[in-house]
Amino acid sequence: MNFKVMLRSANFFKSLLWARILNRRVPLRVGLQLTKYCNMRCSYCYADFERYKTAKELSTDEIFNVVDELHALGCRWIWFLGGEPMMREDFGRIIDYVHSKGMFCDMNSNGILINKDNLSTVKKLDGVAISIDGNEETNDFYRGKGMYQKAIKAVELLVANGVSVRIHSILTKKTAAKLDQVAERSRQLGVTFNYCEVLKKETAGDDILSDKEHEDFYKRYLDYKKRGAPIMHSIESIEYMLKWPKTNGTVIYHEECSGYDTKDYVPCLSGDLLCFVDLDGGIYACNGTWGDGLNYKEVGFKKAWDYLAQRKCVGCRCVGMTSLHSIFGLSEKSVMHALLSIAKIK
Ligand code: SF4
Ligand code: SF4
Repeated sequence: MNFKVMLRSANFFKSLLWARILNRRVPLRVGLQLTKYCNMRCSYCYADFERYKTAKELSTDEIFNVVDELHALGCRWIWFLGGEPMMREDFGRIIDYVHSKGMFCDMNSNGILINKDNLSTVKKLDGVAISIDGNEETNDFYRGKGMYQKAIKAVELLVANGVSVRIHSILTKKTAAKLDQVAERSRQLGVTFNYCEVLKKETAGDDILSDKEHEDFYKRYLDYKKRGAPIMHSIESIEYMLKWPKTNGTVIYHEECSGYDTKDYVPCLSGDLLCFVDLDGGIYACNGTWGDGLNYKEVGFKKAWDYLAQRKCVGCRCVGMTSLHSIFGLSEKSVMHALLSIAKIK
């Protein structure tokens, strides 16, 4: 394992332990939207490109300032999002700056712009998730003709150069049916993979799984995991998808939480230990609650962060967030799973 990655991971876990022991709210892991630009237009994208037509891109120094402010609030892990982070010419300098503060950093990317010329930049990251939605047919349906092969080439290049990569697929009716192919391709490539729910469900229309289809999918996902498929999520977090207690709803709100048992879902820690910062300056509990928060440019970072203590929801049926909340809640099984995954980072 890379010694520097180990140090940054240890730094993060030490801060997490202190936050939990002292029962403090700290934005330990922040999803940071680096850019409004993207070379794709996926139909289900969570980013509001219309609104961004007038939004101003942050300069390098402004990003450094955001990193400083987040670090001062206790952040130890920055997760770069876009748009497409690789569209920023200063991306390498930004990664260096985050690392200079001892923070762990990874990114989600569509992979299309990754090539030999910018490989040295990507190699600086502690992890990379490449979005590939199912197999070639389903991926190119959502992402455009020829995109699957380009994304796979990026994965191959990164693996060949020792970068820790995972394949990140959205979960729709079309992609759910390709689980066997995603698992097999990931195994051949030597990478992990995960499925994740579509954030803006209305954008995927009839492609969103019904409750029954959702349950069937996660039964198969769990079965694949138990049989050794390289799925990133822990068995524990997948089992929570099968225990979800609310019918006809994927979010449990404060006012109704007494009706549900927390052994059936993982209490949300977004807004307590995690948050999302959009490129306009909005700070939200997660990218699913986009718009429900204050803007640091208007009220400052501390006030915008403090506002999130009033979050309206207490849990949601999302395997990615459930997985994170289990780790941040120091569930023994999930922390062990996360540590073993980190240990594999080269
Ligand atoms: S690649 Fe990502 S940011 Fe770009 S349009 Fe697709 S989902 Fe949105
Ligand atoms: S429960 Fe938490 S992770 Fe889920 S939508 Fe609400 S704030 Fe986001």
